[in-house]
Amino acid sequence: MAIRQIRYDGDPALTKKCRKVEVIDDRIRLILDDMMDTLHQTENGAALAANQIGILRRLVVIDYCDHYLKLVNPLIVGYSGEQECVEGCLSFPGHYVKTIRPQRVTVQAFNENGEEVLLIGEDEMAKCFCHEIEHLDGLIFLDRAIEELEL
Ligand SMILES: [Zn+2]
Repeated sequence: MAIRQIRYDGDPALTKKCRKVEVIDDRIRLILDDMMDTLHQTENGAALAANQIGILRRLVVIDYCDHYLKLVNPLIVGYSGEQECVEGCLSFPGHYVKTIRPQRVTVQAFNENGEEVLLIGEDEMAKCFCHEIEHLDGLIFLDRAIEELEL
C-alpha cells in the first residue's frame, strides 16, 4: 500500500483514454488499494480515477455518501432525469463549476474480486459516477461546465 502522486491540470494522463482491464489480479488489487490510500490522504476527496495517478487503466475508487467502492471497467448502462451540480476535482484544486448531470445512473462494473456488480447512483452519487467514468475516457469536468463558480 502506498500513496501515489496525484496528477494535476496540464498533465497528459488526464486527457488520455484508459485501457480496459482484462485480468483482475493482485497487481490490479494493489493499484486499487493505492488509489484508496491516495484518496484518503486528500482533504475532501470523494473518488479517484486511475489516470489521476498516471495509470491508464479503467479503475475507479469511491468513498462517498456511504459507498466504499473499488471498480474495474465501470460503465454507465442507464441514466434518467437531470440535475444541476456543483462539481470539483482532485486534479483541479479550488476549481468549481456548475454542470448538468443525470439524476440517476445505473453502473455496471467488476469489483476487485472479479465479480460483476450493478450499482445505482442517485443525486450526488450519480454525479460522482459520471465524473469518474468520464475521467477514464480522458474527459474532465471542465468539459461539462455550464458556469464557473467562485467558492
Ligand atoms: Zn476528477
